This record gives sequence, C-alpha cells and structure tokens, in this order.
Amino acid sequence: MKAADIKDEGFLAAVERVNDSEDHWALVWDIEAAFPGVPRKVLLAKARRLIRRGVLDGCDCGCRGDFYIPAWNERRVVAWREGSTS
Ligand SMILES: [Zn+2]
Repeated sequence: MKAADIKDEGFLAAVERVNDSEDHWALVWDIEAAFPGVPRKVLLAKARRLIRRGVLDGCDCGCRGDFYIPAWNERRVVAWREGSTS
C-alpha cells in the first residue's frame, strides 16, 4: 500500500465530508477512520502530495493535521466577513 494507491477524489471526499458535516477541519484520525487499515504514514504521504498541488490544505508533519479543502475555507472566510457564522 502506497500513497499512489489512494485515489485523489477519495481522499479529498473524506476531508470534505468532515469539513461539511462537522464544520471543522478533518483530523488525522478522521482520515484514518475513512481508510481503515491504511498506515498513517501512507495517508500523510498522500496528504503531502495533495497539499503540494494546492487542492488540499493542512499539515502533514504527523500532528493532528487540520486538513481542509481550500474552497471550504474560503466559504468560511466569506461567512465570517458577513458576520453570519453560526
Ligand atoms: Zn503538523
């Protein structure tokens, strides 16, 4: 199992599901739960590639991650500016 075996769309969908359903960053543990049996270092390697390409944001150092889809964060920023956060 290596990072290339994980589909970009699958990884991004797992992050976005947490972003949208919990209105929160996706943590490393959320990603692990979405990919049972995949070693954390493989998931972090996948995250690193996606972050480098600019389609994901967060930290791949092995901390809790705080992964998010850039567009999700932009929507949050707009909401904050408009004072409509719940
Ligand atoms: Zn980190």
